[in-house]
Amino acid sequence: MNNISKPRAYAVKHPDASIRKESQSGGIFTALSDHILSEGGVVYGCVMSEPYKAVHQRAETAEQRDRMRGSKYIESKLGDTFKNVKADLLDGRKVLFSGTPCQVDGLKCFLGKPYENLYLVDIICHGVPSPDVWKKYLEWQESRHGKCVGVDFRNKKQFGWAEHIESMHFLKNGKKKRIDSRVFTNIFYAHIMLRPSCYECKYKTAFHPGDITIADFWAIREALPAFDDNKGVSLVLMNSEKGQKLFDSVSDKVICSETEYKKSTRPTMFNPPKRPDSRDKFWDDFKQKDFGYIAERYGGHGTKMALKIKMRRIINRKVK
Ligand SMILES: Cc1cc2nc3c(=O)[nH]c(=O)nc-3n(C[C@H](O)[C@H](O)[C@H](O)COP(=O)(O)OP(=O)(O)OC[C@H]3O[C@@H](n4cnc5c(N)ncnc54)[C@H](O)[C@@H]3O)c2cc1C
Repeated sequence: MNNISKPRAYAVKHPDASIRKESQSGGIFTALSDHILSEGGVVYGCVMSEPYKAVHQRAETAEQRDRMRGSKYIESKLGDTFKNVKADLLDGRKVLFSGTPCQVDGLKCFLGKPYENLYLVDIICHGVPSPDVWKKYLEWQESRHGKCVGVDFRNKKQFGWAEHIESMHFLKNGKKKRIDSRVFTNIFYAHIMLRPSCYECKYKTAFHPGDITIADFWAIREALPAFDDNKGVSLVLMNSEKGQKLFDSVSDKVICSETEYKKSTRPTMFNPPKRPDSRDKFWDDFKQKDFGYIAERYGGHGTKMALKIKMRRIINRKVK
């Protein structure tokens, strides 16, 4: 039950630099889930089961949980997750479930009643892209570079937090190589491959179904400029007293500062993406043409931007 009358917002950075590096923003998810694990609880979240597929999994150890770090910009398959969450709750385990607001609300509907031992964390979500497009994109990249052995939808380690460049690792003739690109990212931001329901997302409101909402703190430069170091800051929003209690129990383990809610949020958090007129044309093309065409027509493949990414990589390599 969401029972806070006024939203409260915090800026958070995990003090462990290596954890922040592996996390999409400031690493609050690790701090919250570490707390649940330390109390004998279990954590549910999204992992890449192979380069093609995002799925929800259950973690009982920090190693299993670590795979949940990082944003996977495709729809995550839930499988039997809701049933497993219920079994853990009935077993008396503390459970932290993390996912998009629609997944969190879906779990609440499935359970049908509140559970004292359930902690819900939702992410601010731009909308979820189609896994089919991701699969075809990777197959196209594999046809050019070899077998894909790892993906990073937003490579913060090489390019910094504010930049959005996807990286894929390929294995060809026993040699590993990394390819950086913005093809998938460009199609993502064009809003043409999001789920149809994302254009009418009902969770673009101040209060979310989770006890806590986590996001990238993009407004940090205006809200708390001294806090920003381009290594990632989490925006943490309290939706319930239960969420506040969970946050309070980890607040001494992270670097955090309460911030003004209005200054911390952005208009995109309150407005679903617009369904572009070009969406139908995109899907017709996607079904009929090869991915090389899609990459050029919609993903900016072969453009100045693509060249810029390539140049930056060469410069980075030389600097190292
Ligand atoms: C599809 C998508 C859209 C996003 N859009 C925005 C946005 O518009 N604005 C914004 O500020 N932030 C957005 N984010 C980023 C999100 O807010 C960050 O995951 C959050 O800041 C967590 O930061 P962290 O450093 O604590 O997390 P990390 O340690 O990196 O944890 C990642 C968390 O995200 C969850 N997760 C990752 N991928 C998925 C997925 N495909 N489906 C469900 N859950 C997933 C994991 O379960 C885990 O709880 C988006 C993420 C995704 C996956």
